[in-house]
Amino acid sequence: MKHNFLNIARSTLPERLVDERVKDYEEYATRMDDESVKQQAARCMDCGTPFCHVGDMIGQETIGCPIHNYIPEWNKLVTKSDWMGAYHRLMETNNFPEFTGRVCPAPCEGSCTLGISEDPVAIKSIERTIIDRAFEEGWVKPRPVHRRSGMTIAVVGSGPAGLAAADQLNQLGHSVTIIEKADEPGGLLMYGIPNMKLDKDVVRRRIRLLEQEGIVIRTNIEVGTDVTVEALRNQYDAVIFATGAQKQRTLGIDGDDARGVEMAMDYLTASMRERKGESLPSMYDAKDKNVIVIGGGDTGADCVATAIRQGAKSVVQFGKHPSKGLLRAPEKPWPLQPDTLTTDYAYAESLAVYEKDPRTYLIRSNQIVTIEGRVTGIETERMTKVVNPDGQATFFVEEDSIETYPADLILVAIGFERPEHELRKIGVEKTTDFQTATENVFVAGDAKRGQSLIVWAIREGREVAEVVDAYLDTCKTELKTSS
Ligand SMILES: Cc1cc2nc3c(=O)[nH]c(=O)nc-3n(C[C@H](O)[C@H](O)[C@H](O)COP(=O)(O)OP(=O)(O)OC[C@H]3O[C@@H](n4cnc5c(N)ncnc54)[C@H](O)[C@@H]3O)c2cc1C
Ligand code: SF4
Repeated sequence: MKHNFLNIARSTLPERLVDERVKDYEEYATRMDDESVKQQAARCMDCGTPFCHVGDMIGQETIGCPIHNYIPEWNKLVTKSDWMGAYHRLMETNNFPEFTGRVCPAPCEGSCTLGISEDPVAIKSIERTIIDRAFEEGWVKPRPVHRRSGMTIAVVGSGPAGLAAADQLNQLGHSVTIIEKADEPGGLLMYGIPNMKLDKDVVRRRIRLLEQEGIVIRTNIEVGTDVTVEALRNQYDAVIFATGAQKQRTLGIDGDDARGVEMAMDYLTASMRERKGESLPSMYDAKDKNVIVIGGGDTGADCVATAIRQGAKSVVQFGKHPSKGLLRAPEKPWPLQPDTLTTDYAYAESLAVYEKDPRTYLIRSNQIVTIEGRVTGIETERMTKVVNPDGQATFFVEEDSIETYPADLILVAIGFERPEHELRKIGVEKTTDFQTATENVFVAGDAKRGQSLIVWAIREGREVAEVVDAYLDTCKTELKTSS
């Protein structure tokens, strides 16, 4: 198949019809047929200097794939129908392509060279098809570890960072135990990202494989409460904290402790627990309620989609920033992310169900309106954003713009605290890179970077594994020299 970027249009994974999918919590994106995926892969120009796999930061922005996936290479293999070859190439850099192929925001596509003049290659859709096909064909099997090093490692936290670190270290022959405070492993893959984006059986399937390969997972144990860091240090040769950054920011306005004001993470977790057969506490049920989601990010969008499925009367999402443009902004030249307005799954669903985009921009929440301690509304004002030549933004409140929205349920999704404070509470002091102030204790993932992306968590897991492996090597050498 020739390079067909001139005559084949970009297309991504098909999505289930909105009217149908809002009736359940199953994944909204489905499989693309093999022939279409081959055509999409053939759009890759195989350009001389690809940026799609660079994976670095320019300022706050990710350029290309943080785990340096060999994208042009697997594109070529797919065009030749060498699906197994593509699968093996993919697994060289990505421990969990079935997660990223579903929920990665695909910074690779923003940096695709074809994207300079045309729509970029549908990299994420191709990635998901390669791995889904590999599972269907039975190519994904436990990889037994034949030689053990005798070294033991505890990984605290079983999100993508902890799982990736455990996978890498286990394959190197070390004995790894994951310690997780929740009742089921997976971190935000399990209790955070809704099933509509990432089916929990997809997460369980990977965790089962890791266990079959020898990783031990112990749940319902909270480090700092049930076991001390010191006890872990004594029991294991190295300890990695991949505990995430899940402490949410609170509103800090009058009335934010009223009944009916809930944190987005508690709400999403309760909905996921309901999928597992637990009953949904009424405070997390949006049925027939006017729902306000405060926070314009992805967590807010996941709340919108969940509230729609619960049968909310109305859903409005407040954002602090103005609406993005439809075209790449001049201050976001390639290979930066274009940061354009997109209609994500949740917004498409809101348009279908309520005939309205839920997003409301440049809103400041002033106070929660309550009657007898229960929320009935929220008072807001409109803002204007002014950016100075240095790129610094200031928000001004518009005069006479006070408005009160009716609300029965307010979901707070305004971001997450930095992780340092939570780590310090259990006695872990982050220093440089993956090292902490304590010799054999390391930190990775959101616990190190702050709330980020799955693909970054996987990279962190892989990198901390390298650091820990080198550390264990040094320990071995020191032991030999002293004996
Ligand atoms: C609602 C939501 C939606 C998101 N959607 C996306 C998306 O679509 N795409 C994307 O790329 N990213 C998304 N993210 C971000 C992504 O999920 C995170 O960046 C990623 O999961 C971080 O991985 P991690 O392993 O560092 O931490 P986490 O996934 O947060 O896992 C940390 C684990 O550590 C455990 N833990 C914490 N403290 C202790 C302790 N003391 N003892 C034992 N265990 C402990 C926690 O229970 C948890 O299981 C989303 C985040 C949220 C909140
Ligand atoms: S992991 Fe994300 S950034 Fe990397 S190739 Fe896949 S979709 Fe692109």
